[in-house]
Amino acid sequence: MSRGDMAKPLLGQGSTEGDPSITPAPGRTIGVLGSGDFARSLAIRLVCSGFKVVVGSRNPKRKTSLFPSAAEVTFQAEAVKKTDVIFVAVFREHYTTLCDLADVLAGKILVDVSNNTEINHHKESNAEYLASLFPACTVVKAFNVVSAWTLQSGARDGNKQVLICSNNQEAKRTVAEIAQVMGFTPVDMGCMSSACEIENIPLRLLPAWKIPIFLALGLFLCFFTYNLIRQVIHPFIREQKNKFYKIPIEVVNTTLPCVSYVMLSLVYLPGVLAACSQLYYGTKYRRFPDWLDQWLQHRKQIGLLSFFCAALHAVYSLCLPMRRSHRYLLIETAVKQAVEKKMNIWVEEEVWRMEIYISVGIIALGLLSLLAITSLPSIANSLNWREFSFVQSSLGFVALVVSTLHTLTYGWSRAFDENQYKFYLPPTYTLTLLVPCTVIIAKVIFSLPCIRHRLLRIRRGWEKGRYVKFVLPSATGEYSSGETSSNV
Ligand code: NAP
Repeated sequence: MSRGDMAKPLLGQGSTEGDPSITPAPGRTIGVLGSGDFARSLAIRLVCSGFKVVVGSRNPKRKTSLFPSAAEVTFQAEAVKKTDVIFVAVFREHYTTLCDLADVLAGKILVDVSNNTEINHHKESNAEYLASLFPACTVVKAFNVVSAWTLQSGARDGNKQVLICSNNQEAKRTVAEIAQVMGFTPVDMGCMSSACEIENIPLRLLPAWKIPIFLALGLFLCFFTYNLIRQVIHPFIREQKNKFYKIPIEVVNTTLPCVSYVMLSLVYLPGVLAACSQLYYGTKYRRFPDWLDQWLQHRKQIGLLSFFCAALHAVYSLCLPMRRSHRYLLIETAVKQAVEKKMNIWVEEEVWRMEIYISVGIIALGLLSLLAITSLPSIANSLNWREFSFVQSSLGFVALVVSTLHTLTYGWSRAFDENQYKFYLPPTYTLTLLVPCTVIIAKVIFSLPCIRHRLLRIRRGWEKGRYVKFVLPSATGEYSSGETSSNV
């Protein structure tokens, strides 16, 4: 960023929209220790938000040109003397080099913005370590989840939330106020013991996606191997035909819809299991087993991966006619028919099957796209609970039913053709139908009035044979406890 650019405000003078209790502090002086990437971006942003900024560097002369002209760059001790709030924009391993400043820092607020390179790298968080080095200061953990890039480009691009924690409420409020004036959304994460958790956040790599991704890869591997055996290995062994060219597109394209379809049913299966458990125990207050809890929490990611595989399947299918192998086979068939003088090759049943199969497939993809779009936080936030559950639950179930029709029209009568049982292995589509059909049948059973009514009562707090605990004084004057049951 050029010095000219630095002079231009990224935002107007800080806004305090949303919380009238927080007042902007224009003109307040904020200190920044360090002159690296983060310190520079922070200084630019603070200046643009109406704060006076004083930067403390070990070598101010060399670093002045890197900062906006409105920011003062001076020696660390000088900078610290001029302000009560100081952002420590240096790495943890250099905190001890600041110990000479302990006297001038006493009584001031230190904002720890640091991150680690590994999750739980140190026993104590960086903020707690800083607090132990400077016991006369008040340490606040904040801004570590915001990158230097976000600070420069403004809160309109990138993560807007600033997670804040400290043992001192007043200091936390001051830093929250500064964050809000800068255009960020402060989020109170409680006391200093949360610092470790906040420091781990930028290091996590898609934590909610690990299980769904492994699940999708596992399914892909299983179905890919199964299809490979049926479509490539079987003709090679039985008829000495080389069909290995099918691996990159055809085998992948028959595997993707299997994964997508089964994954979609796995979005709804945990709900069915949870309902079974609630019906069996007659209560909603009994905790589900951990694996079911985890499964329920990952439904969104499983659904999105299902959509991803379905979208890939659509693209692969559209590209099938582009292949050389397809053209050669088409010409070969045409030549054979010409030699055999076959004029009419129209098979009415096949034509209808294909028309219905493609049409239903397009509808299923459309419904899956709708589910994927409404699971985005920005869209989900614009829906009320009824609308969200209608799309995700009702339309999701319709998507599962339509996908089942797509699979059935693809399979047609192949399940009854003994030539389709390669190495006695049934056609792949029959295997994929198992879980989705179980889910559909269970959902239909749950919609029967008697079961639906019982489930609704349980979900509104009714319990089968609820036990009421009572305590009675015994003859000896001691208290004994017992239980009685009352059906509510
Ligand atoms: P950087 O570019 O390497 O800057 C670190 C600064 O620390 C140096 O410019 C230096 O400034 C100062 N420093 C003080 N004592 C030092 C010493 N003994 N040895 C070396 N440098 C010393 O790093 P950064 O990217 O700005 O990161 C600074 C802090 O912000 C880190 O704790 C990091 O985890 C955190 N953070 C960074 C980002 C990001 O996007 N970069 C995001 C979130 C949090 P002087 O030479 O002027 O003293």
